[in-house]
Amino acid sequence: MSRAGGPRADLPSDFAPLLIDWQRRAGRSGMPWQNTRDPYRVWLSEVMLQQTQVSTVLGYYARFLERFPDVRALAAAEADEVMALWSGLGYYSRARNLHRCAQAVVEQHGGAFPSTAAGLETLPGIGASTAAAIAAFCFGERVSIVDGNVRRVLTRLLAFEGDLAQTKPQRELWEVAQALLPIEPSADDMTAYTQGLMDLGATVCTRSRPACGQCPMQGICRGYQAGEPQRFPVKTRTLKRRHESWWLLLVKLADGPERFWLQRRPASGIWAGLYCPPVFESEQGVHRDLPPAWVDRVIALDAVSHSLTHRELRLHPLLLVLTSEPLPGELPPGQWVDAGLLSQHGLPAPVKPLLQALLAPDLFERT
Ligand code: SF4
Repeated sequence: MSRAGGPRADLPSDFAPLLIDWQRRAGRSGMPWQNTRDPYRVWLSEVMLQQTQVSTVLGYYARFLERFPDVRALAAAEADEVMALWSGLGYYSRARNLHRCAQAVVEQHGGAFPSTAAGLETLPGIGASTAAAIAAFCFGERVSIVDGNVRRVLTRLLAFEGDLAQTKPQRELWEVAQALLPIEPSADDMTAYTQGLMDLGATVCTRSRPACGQCPMQGICRGYQAGEPQRFPVKTRTLKRRHESWWLLLVKLADGPERFWLQRRPASGIWAGLYCPPVFESEQGVHRDLPPAWVDRVIALDAVSHSLTHRELRLHPLLLVLTSEPLPGELPPGQWVDAGLLSQHGLPAPVKPLLQALLAPDLFERT
């Protein structure tokens, strides 16, 4: 993607100055990943903030930095530990790519992140917008982020009619974003501008209720002036989620230490690489695979729903309490995991509360 861009007569020339001024007066400040030019910290926050609320990211960000204070520490970690620390943030491919990216920075770049968006984009898991954010925040590069929030702001600002489900309008919007950048900005200007784009989309020009009355762009916003800003962005293709039911076999022993029978999910697909109770695609499948004497002891617990990007999962937990150690082959492949060690295993977000509910009230907190 070309990063060239300059002023265009068809675009409002005061967008960048208004945005920089507004960010410095009214934008978000004091977040732990602000006021730093350390690419490791900015990169970590950018990856965590993809699809995830700031309030959720705060705790994860602090724990990650405490355990992995720099890119070398993260690169040297075991993949399981990275996944365990990520557990609950969802979109686990981000954690796998985070680890691979840290290793690539250490092995291919001597532990220093590339200093341009183009160089950053060659790393695993760093897309165009994340690369632009790191390059702008850390190296003052004159390059624009274009994530979902920014697309919404810019399409409303310009009443941009292009269909963002199509490649050509996407490219046009990227060029617009480049052309709107401040002219000859200082590094501090690029920080305020980039942060301003993020803040405006997250706090003012929100998806369903844009607060146009408090927006610094009201005077130049064509979507607002046309009276229907929510009509933008135009996107014809909507995501269709497939509905699926899964049965999860929760196995524990009646006596002895608290532990669960978990299996590691395959390296690709849903919950890849995480630890999970054995999964079945039907209740009959559970009955078929268990010794007959155990089938009557299986208790159905309340089902829960869980949304993934492309799927709507209905999870049916089934509890099996065994009175003695199973013989080899009686249970589906897996391993016992002590309750006290659950926090060291990456668990899918909806599985954690299911296991938690089966433990003594305070045991999970101590793990
Ligand atoms: Fe968004 Fe309204 Fe601001 Fe336009 S005026 S950018 S629609 S909040």
